[in-house]
Amino acid sequence: VAEASATACTFCRIVAGELPASLVHDDADVLAFMDVNPVNPGHVLVVPRRHYASLADLPDPVDARLFVVAQRLAAALRKSGVRCEGVNLFLADGAAAGQDVFHCHLHVRPRYAGDAVRHIYDPGHPTRSELDAIAARIRAASLAPERAG
Ligand SMILES: [Zn+2]
Repeated sequence: VAEASATACTFCRIVAGELPASLVHDDADVLAFMDVNPVNPGHVLVVPRRHYASLADLPDPVDARLFVVAQRLAAALRKSGVRCEGVNLFLADGAAAGQDVFHCHLHVRPRYAGDAVRHIYDPGHPTRSELDAIAARIRAASLAPERAG
């Protein structure tokens, strides 16, 4: 799926230089550029150079590199003169999570008091035993062997 869709992928075309982008970072593993639909000015996307649809597809060390670059860009945003009193890192993994471009990408979003960004949800109120049960399932899954294929 990933390779077949690569040529039609907007982010692959940016990496290839076929589409314009305002670059903020470029290295052997990842590229970062301005989001053309920012939540606030300074909204950056960090993407792996190669096409991986999902977070789980990223190989070592590309996975770590994505987050390290995001961390550095978050710090740079705060020093840049762009209005930035706080930062959200946001990664939509899967359509149900709001992923719209199926080339894994990490958003670095500058935030400031009174901006228009909203994260709206009704928080749950699980019991401790419910939390413990879910934690046990996640722990067990994280100990499972790496991807089968
Ligand atoms: Zn792609």
